[in-house]
Amino acid sequence: MTTNNKKKQSIAQNTVFDNVKHYIDSIKNGNSFFTLELKLHTISIVLALLNVLTAIAFYMTSLYVLMIFSIVSIFYYSILVQSLVTKGKYPSSMLAITGHIIIYSFLATFLTGTNTGFSLYDFILITAFFYLTFVIDSFQKKEFIPFVFSIMVCICFLFNYVAMMFMEPVYTLPKNWIDTFYICNSIFVFSSIIVFSFMLVWEIKLSNHRLASQNEQLDELAHKDPLTKLYNRRSMNKFLAESLDNLKLRGKRFSLILGDIDDFKKVNDTYGHDAGDLVLTTVASLITSNVRNNDVVCRWGGEEILILINDPMETASMAAERIRKSIEEANITFEDQVIHVTMTFGLSESIPGFKIEHLIQQADDKLYSGKKAGKNRVVI
Ligand code: GH3
Ligand code: MG
Ligand code: MG
Repeated sequence: MTTNNKKKQSIAQNTVFDNVKHYIDSIKNGNSFFTLELKLHTISIVLALLNVLTAIAFYMTSLYVLMIFSIVSIFYYSILVQSLVTKGKYPSSMLAITGHIIIYSFLATFLTGTNTGFSLYDFILITAFFYLTFVIDSFQKKEFIPFVFSIMVCICFLFNYVAMMFMEPVYTLPKNWIDTFYICNSIFVFSSIIVFSFMLVWEIKLSNHRLASQNEQLDELAHKDPLTKLYNRRSMNKFLAESLDNLKLRGKRFSLILGDIDDFKKVNDTYGHDAGDLVLTTVASLITSNVRNNDVVCRWGGEEILILINDPMETASMAAERIRKSIEEANITFEDQVIHVTMTFGLSESIPGFKIEHLIQQADDKLYSGKKAGKNRVVI
């Protein structure tokens, strides 16, 4: 194989691998493209194919009534049930499948006896009901549906058995055919039960996953600023209260850094509001990357950012200087234009007995004096 061919093959393998990975990821994220329609289509195709097999088996055993019934069933599933599914009539298609299976198992048991295992098909219905009730929207919150249906199915199953206690099957099949039917029917029934149970567990996992990510989104909406993804004022107040408690109970000191972007109005006026937004998000991420994980960064006002440093003033002033420098050096590119901004910072340190408002006021005073002294500086 030439190097080129090898390369092509490895690219093709990578694409297949990427597709599979993408598919698995999308299922994990709850965006499975196995829609309800596709699931019901698959179920009816599997049942149509099953009827092809039984039609052949009934032909071989000369059970012509059942052979004709199987052939009619092939059309029933591939035309009628499929069209119900395509029209979105999911509950009706589910009932159409259920009705057919009950009649089929009853007829096959009546003609061939209980030993051929056709009545076992009723068992699939029970797991299928619970599964489909979970995935069909209009059935949700109607837990009684699978329950009532399951009881009806049990009654049908027992009725089949009791009826056959009092009569002989219409056809007497050779022993090897009875065993073959029983084994094949059992395999199909058990596989279906396993598949439906597995899908139900999977569906529950998916719905938990969706709930978890919705909760995460709600949590973010409640606690974070949508533009900068920094904490909002409300959550910052909670962090400040915690730090104040820590100071009172454990003597753990903390500091506040209040920063305000210099001449930000000019940025908006010169480059537009979108450029201003980009500057804000860039500044936010520069600040976040320059503090420790246990420090809290919050969008306190328009372009004012409050940072809670869980350390004394010396550490906070070093952090503020690091942040100031990184903002001063940053080239913020907006539509081929490079924007430079600076930021002024005022600091304050926790003092036992002081209220949070006093500490913020102190930082604000320092910030104000920094602005007056020429901006782009840290004032302690
Ligand atoms: P100074 O150096 O004294 O701070 O001057 P300044 O121009 O930055 O003045 P000031 O702090 O009063 O200006 C705040 C400006 O920030 C006004 C407002 O239009 C702008 N601003 C506030 N929030 C946003 C925002 O979310 N996006 C954008 N693009 N601009 C914002
Ligand atoms: Mg400003
Ligand atoms: Mg301001």
